[in-house]
Amino acid sequence: LISRLPHIGTTIFSRMSSLAAQHGAVNLGQGFPDFACDPKLIDQVTIAMREGYNQYPTGMGALELRQAIVDKIQRIYGHRYDVNAEVTVTPGATEALTTAILCSVHPGDEVIVIEPAYDSYLPAIELAGGVPVLVQMQLDAHGGFSVPWARVEAAVTPRTRMIIINTPHNPTGSVLRAADMAALGDIVRDTDILILSDEVYEHMVYDGQRHESMCRYPELAERSFVVSSFGKTYHVTGWKVGYVAAPAMMTLEFRKIHQYNVFSVNTPMQHGIASYMEDPAPYTGLPAFYQRKRDLFRKGLEGSRFELLPADGTYFQCVRYDRISAQSEAQFAEWLTSEIKVAAIPVSAFYRDGKDSGIVRFCFAKKDETLALALERLARV
Ligand code: PMP
Ligand code: GLN
Repeated sequence: LISRLPHIGTTIFSRMSSLAAQHGAVNLGQGFPDFACDPKLIDQVTIAMREGYNQYPTGMGALELRQAIVDKIQRIYGHRYDVNAEVTVTPGATEALTTAILCSVHPGDEVIVIEPAYDSYLPAIELAGGVPVLVQMQLDAHGGFSVPWARVEAAVTPRTRMIIINTPHNPTGSVLRAADMAALGDIVRDTDILILSDEVYEHMVYDGQRHESMCRYPELAERSFVVSSFGKTYHVTGWKVGYVAAPAMMTLEFRKIHQYNVFSVNTPMQHGIASYMEDPAPYTGLPAFYQRKRDLFRKGLEGSRFELLPADGTYFQCVRYDRISAQSEAQFAEWLTSEIKVAAIPVSAFYRDGKDSGIVRFCFAKKDETLALALERLARV
């Protein structure tokens, strides 16, 4: 077999999770909660199963769930999607991202990707025959990452088909502000460039900031695939249910690939999530829930030799470790896992050229006891 992706190995998340298991380390590497989801959500899924929601749903997703998604987006961001023509339920955000790329990018098309970038974007672009055009985020004096819009604009050519945006951002925890959205609007206006907006952490923005969804901006929404994930929002990453919202013409093309790739997403989870979404409290309360954990984790590291970077959104905290070690990020993350027994993710895994900035990422979506144990170990480093 001649590989379509010869240079791709196993993802950093799988590798660090198995290393953590092998060494009995506290796993702050791969991003997932170690606490239970709301039992009411499980009840809703079991009720759906008992009520007989166990056969194929429509390929676009159960109507009840699409309706709940449309209503939520309108309530928060003020944009009204058409429930039949513009929203598709997907098995996690991952399939939504890959399918959005496969249905829009033709061989030779350029896709602007801002690095550090979530690891699934580049392989999908490559499978489509597209050409990734990489623009690196810049680090300001306080260690915060931001998007250099002038460089994004300079990267645009007549072949640019798509720009991929991720806010709140994995791994840096940075969030885009209104000024960023204005800059993006200026770049794409009067072009036919599409936007793929990865907003899986939309409900994890802290310190009273608001999430800047593409849906808030009609001129951006009209060219965007907006992707989110119930795994993140409801603490059920293993359920793999997400969605994509996009204008009808884009959704039509998306579904042509989606229908043959997965056809549909498991039925009872869709009905269970739809009922659970009637109460907005679980997602409106998420910023306070995670901000407390972020603050607990940051406070615990304050006396240590790690240097905290800003963490405005997501459930990730990035740290510099140059006062501790001169190792590469990958070596340091492995050493932390095997010797200190706390797993982390090297940020270099989010750069195609493996750029090393001396920064690793911790996930704080953990029980307070788990964070306390990790902090006790990290304080000794
Ligand atoms: N995008 C980003 C930025 C993510 O962090 C993740 C989860 N690791 C995904 C997409 C994939 O989400 P899902 O688990 O719903 O497929
Ligand atoms: N999104 C998760 C993270 O960044 C990992 C998901 C996965 O393992 N694919 O840690």
